[in-house]
Amino acid sequence: MELLKERIRKDGVIKEGNVLKVDSFLNHQMDIALINEMGKEFRRLFPDESINKILTIEASGIGIACITAQYFGCPVVFAKKTQSINIDGEVYSTQIKSFTHNRTYDVIVKKAFLSPQDNILIIDDFLANGCALLGLIDIVKNAGAKIAGAGIVIEKGCQCGGELVRSQGIRVESLAIIDSMDPVSGCKFRDEVKA
Ligand code: 5GP
Repeated sequence: MELLKERIRKDGVIKEGNVLKVDSFLNHQMDIALINEMGKEFRRLFPDESINKILTIEASGIGIACITAQYFGCPVVFAKKTQSINIDGEVYSTQIKSFTHNRTYDVIVKKAFLSPQDNILIIDDFLANGCALLGLIDIVKNAGAKIAGAGIVIEKGCQCGGELVRSQGIRVESLAIIDSMDPVSGCKFRDEVKA
């Protein structure tokens, strides 16, 4: 998505440790007009009328998922990060290792909000090593629901997550794929590398 790539070039800040900061338009301050275009693009990429629910993870995925959901006419469920796993069997849970915070979270979704009748589109802001996405996929599979695919805003193609998830036969559509980045030369996007 050209508009997004332009914005990353203009306002993205590359930090040590292969981290891209997009705080000024996605992860802290949010550019709603831009995110609205992302929502439209996800709808174009996933035209499947049977998608009836969007699943994301708190916190950064929620805003993107909500705007996207308006183009799908469906509810959003967000997985919650928690310290204490509820053991009464009311929730699906999995563990996710955070790339940015270098710690592991228990993540839960209430069973009442996912069912085998659901066809789920997963939405998230970044795909890096794939832990967040694989955790969400695990939850959907435990619920017996169908996975229509995953819509990612920024995929870091230099990390293994995209390959891992696609190798499971899951369709992943990323609006921008960054194959390399460094603080001096900036980001190289996948289609530019190929060109
Ligand atoms: P993964 O689980 O695929 O390794 O990482 C995905 C999660 O880590 C995303 O939900 C995102 O919050 C965070 N993340 C990974 N890489 C970056 C990055 O370069 N910049 C930012 N801002 N977040 C990232």
